[in-house]
Amino acid sequence: MTDSPEARVARMLHHRKAALQQGDPVVPPITASATFHLPHVQAGGQVYGRNGNPSWEAVEAQLAILEDAETVGFPSGMAAIAAALFATLRAGDRLVIPSDGYYVTRVLSQGFLKPLGVEVIGLPTRAYDSSDFAGAAVVYLETPSNPGLDVVDIAAVAARARAAGAVVIADNTTMTPLLQRPLDLGADLVVAADTKAPSGHSDVLFGHVAGRDAARMARVRDWRRMAGAIPGPFEAFLVHRGLETLELRLERMCASAQRIAERLAAHPAVRGVRFPGLPGDESFAVARAQMAASGFLIGFELADAGAAEGFLARCPLIEQTTSFGATHTSGERRARWGDSVSEGFVRLSVGIEPVEVLWAAMAEALAG
Ligand SMILES: *Cc1c(COP(=O)(O)O)cnc(C)c1O
Repeated sequence: MTDSPEARVARMLHHRKAALQQGDPVVPPITASATFHLPHVQAGGQVYGRNGNPSWEAVEAQLAILEDAETVGFPSGMAAIAAALFATLRAGDRLVIPSDGYYVTRVLSQGFLKPLGVEVIGLPTRAYDSSDFAGAAVVYLETPSNPGLDVVDIAAVAARARAAGAVVIADNTTMTPLLQRPLDLGADLVVAADTKAPSGHSDVLFGHVAGRDAARMARVRDWRRMAGAIPGPFEAFLVHRGLETLELRLERMCASAQRIAERLAAHPAVRGVRFPGLPGDESFAVARAQMAASGFLIGFELADAGAAEGFLARCPLIEQTTSFGATHTSGERRARWGDSVSEGFVRLSVGIEPVEVLWAAMAEALAG
């Protein structure tokens, strides 16, 4: 069944209803049990806390509706990414990953997959649009890339990668299943950090892998059960609650980001604004075609490291933190992590503050 994005959100909000009995809690309980009553092994139900837990399964049910695909939950975005890679790659395989994508994915590939015999090829996100992926077993993409916000045409890349015989894995963290649908565009697996906008309150780490091929997803599930990278029930409870307001928060965050990006682009102290929703942005056309909104992340450059640090320190409505997608606006100077961006490059994650109050605080901090 292919239903509208709005219908999926509504279905997610009521996903428990059909199974509820008189007197059951409407909200999924936190099931803090490592073991389950098991007089008969084959009789169904929960078996053991590493195999399954009703609290994570409630979140997986929500995400499966949003992704329109089988979904397996993990205790962090990186646990999900590791599961997708380890469940898919074999010795001798070639993995193509973005050289400008999420840093830890690159370090994981170099530090742990390469020593096991996987050839790791780093490719700038911009070069994905012109690569034929010959010889690749897995093409891993991230769009918009983090932190540069370059956008690749997922359908075109997936078609070329699949023609070359590769499995396509897409990190959809920056967009969430509400704003971008890599599986509909030809990706085999989606990985994502629900630590960001889906949970949305900076109080929990979580991740998931989603896919529509049962055998591939069975490998991912087996990886979780055997490697033991399982989410906690308390964390799952928080993610379940966060997901209920995801659409509402994204609407505000994306609308505010659009307005703030336009004003930053017109500000004399600001250069190099990257936001896929600006008509002048090199990603505008592709973003428009494959994203339901332009997101809530903005990249921009101030004169130098000192100007960027000063701006972030002075603005009372920007949390100085890494990560993004929270209720509060946050920002950081990415070069402090060694990302290949200019010293004054700031990645801003727009939150849910009333936008004029937020902009007034930013404008004052930009004025110095
Ligand atoms: C944060 C992030 C991750 C990792 O998520 P964790 O929950 O921190 O492990 C992976 N990919 C992208 C694009 C991210 O932003």
